[in-house]
Amino acid sequence: MYVESDPSGADPCFKERLNSSFHFNWGMKALGTSDIRNDFPILQRKLGGKPLVYLDNASTSQKPKQVLDAMDEFYRNSNANVMRSTNSLGLEATEIYHGARNRVAEMIGASPKEVIFTRGTTEGLNVLARILTKKYVCSGGKVITSILEHHSNILPWRNSVSVVGAKLAVLPANRSWTMDLDRLEAELSDGADIVTTLHVSNVLGTINPVKEICRLAHDHGALVVLDSAQGVPHMPVDVKEIDVDFMVFSSHKMLGPTGVGVLYGKQSHLEDLEPWELGGGMVKSVTADEVSYEDLPTRLEAGTPNIAGVIGLAAAVNYLQDIGMQSIVDHERRLLRHAFEVLPKEILELYGPTEAYSHSGMLAFNVKGIHPHDVASALDKEGIIVRAGHHCAQPLVNALGTTATVRASFYLYNSHEEVDLLGQGLRRSVEILT
Ligand code: PMP
Repeated sequence: MYVESDPSGADPCFKERLNSSFHFNWGMKALGTSDIRNDFPILQRKLGGKPLVYLDNASTSQKPKQVLDAMDEFYRNSNANVMRSTNSLGLEATEIYHGARNRVAEMIGASPKEVIFTRGTTEGLNVLARILTKKYVCSGGKVITSILEHHSNILPWRNSVSVVGAKLAVLPANRSWTMDLDRLEAELSDGADIVTTLHVSNVLGTINPVKEICRLAHDHGALVVLDSAQGVPHMPVDVKEIDVDFMVFSSHKMLGPTGVGVLYGKQSHLEDLEPWELGGGMVKSVTADEVSYEDLPTRLEAGTPNIAGVIGLAAAVNYLQDIGMQSIVDHERRLLRHAFEVLPKEILELYGPTEAYSHSGMLAFNVKGIHPHDVASALDKEGIIVRAGHHCAQPLVNALGTTATVRASFYLYNSHEEVDLLGQGLRRSVEILT
């Protein structure tokens, strides 16, 4: 049952409460300053007596109280299963759930029918690799990906092409550490069925020319799957403008809860796909030997969904949009520019381009002569949380000429002072560790 209009019987007070928790009016909150930071309870805590400096946002983001409250409010006041019950609580929960879907769809310029909730980017990519390869790639066919990818966008395809006897072409990056469009065009001219790539590198923050990738792929009759795990959380994204066929992302990297993600697909493509999971909530009728499925999006969401998680994601979307995605881009660029200025370059090896305009808000580096895990531990003692390792992107990290890096990744609540603290922490790590 997919309800686009108001089902009768929903509690009007709850709708008001929900709308007020979904739509806050910030006035003009300056990014990175205390009025934003005060919304994030975890940012008030200390680590080892030092204020927490959280610079691991590419792994997962922190959650504002508006997201926590929206989920709490749902469980306290409206908890019921969705899309199956006709009792008033079930209808109310269903309306809230679909309202949340509408918000998420609106953020990426999609129709709600094109937004399928998953557990996250990894699940979305696994499903797409399995289903699209089976449907569109024959023996001898080809899927194109790149060396830039997260393991979640290489391993499922490696597996799915081997099942049908097709090939996975892994393109090298160009000198800007984005997809090499000449190589892409050459591979496409040679014949290919699907191009699957990331939007923003989770190691370097470099941004792929996604519109151009889609145009080239479509000119050659190939579909495009976009891993926007690091895109949608950090910049305005409009699926119709990009003209992408499928796109996936995770709630937990954009202020929402873990365990929820989005699989976007153009409506005509999704209508063509057989449901990949079967069960409750997605059928119109079942007889002893026949089944007819619900319409989109319900037909692709079998079983009880992560209702509170989806509501938390919608609250996160509201939070981000009330601030403005372009303001977030600008803020992260300012932080990066500041980082390139104040970090002690003489002791660092920086990876990737060092112009802030070509980056989303993260940077990868090593401190010369010190293992990245030791650097991360030294920073940890200063209350500074970064990630060290291969970032689930070993082919890329190896292509950078190393096996591991430190990565600092910023978000809307990070401040210039925190970047300064990172610089001081790095200097101190050299004093302690050499
Ligand atoms: N792709 C990219 C580019 C990522 O950064 C990540 C998370 N690091 C993933 C895929 C996987 O996301 P998740 O763990 O939320 O499924």
